[in-house]
Amino acid sequence: MPFIGSHLSSTKGYLAMGKTAIKMGEDTFAYFTRNPRGGSVKPLNVPDMQALQALMDEQGFGRLVAHAPYTMNLCAAKEDVRTFSRNVLKEDLERLNALPGHYLNFHPGSHVGQGAEAGIALIADALNEALTPDTKTTVLLETMAGKGTEIGRSFEELRAIIDRVELSEKMGVCLDTCHVWDGGYDIVNDLDGVLTTFDKVIGLDRLKAIHFNDSLNVCGAHKDRHARLGEGCIGAEAMKRVLRHPALKDLPFVLETPNDEAGYIREVALMREWLA
Ligand code: FE
Ligand code: FE
Ligand code: ZN
Repeated sequence: MPFIGSHLSSTKGYLAMGKTAIKMGEDTFAYFTRNPRGGSVKPLNVPDMQALQALMDEQGFGRLVAHAPYTMNLCAAKEDVRTFSRNVLKEDLERLNALPGHYLNFHPGSHVGQGAEAGIALIADALNEALTPDTKTTVLLETMAGKGTEIGRSFEELRAIIDRVELSEKMGVCLDTCHVWDGGYDIVNDLDGVLTTFDKVIGLDRLKAIHFNDSLNVCGAHKDRHARLGEGCIGAEAMKRVLRHPALKDLPFVLETPNDEAGYIREVALMREWLA
């Protein structure tokens, strides 16, 4: 059975997120490791993280899918942005060792004109610097819509990054349904074909999490505008087939749809209905 959650605010700390998730009917969730549009970070509160883990163990939660800030671009053209980004990745992984065994997802980055190949090399370099044998988190590359110069617009680009990472057993992929659709993968008419392609190019064993979003745009639009379930171009029937696909059955499914808390509660309930 998939785990279901949404993207929660982390301002009140770790245990508070766990309690909110339970209230909302969730058994996993996503959160930003730090200010998503800046980079500032709160002091580490290890007892708070341990209290969350104890609550999740008791409640049978799946793995969490933490999200790195949007300002992190490991393949930026500007050296100061790259240095900031490398430090964020290293520091977040060190901090997450206090809450071991979960996922840290990030947008591979935008090469801003340097070319995909150069971008891929920079991203892999940063991962090789940040990952150590002691890293207790699996790092997930997110599939991207291919807006502008985004890397990760194809499964091949993600595979190329993973191939260059030395500790590649610590690497996985988070598939965002809106992004792959916008990237040109037709999950409405050929979900099996898309997953077969994923398996051939990357390997389904690397697929660790799903961002579960409908899209405001048509397949291949490269736009990245999320829609609520059934209110976009993917549509309820196709979203339901993704949720129920046997190859995805044990993964965390995280909603990043444009919703307030009541909206997320409704969508979580709808997803549970689809699974029943
Ligand atoms: Fe994301
Ligand atoms: Fe996403
Ligand atoms: Zn998106």
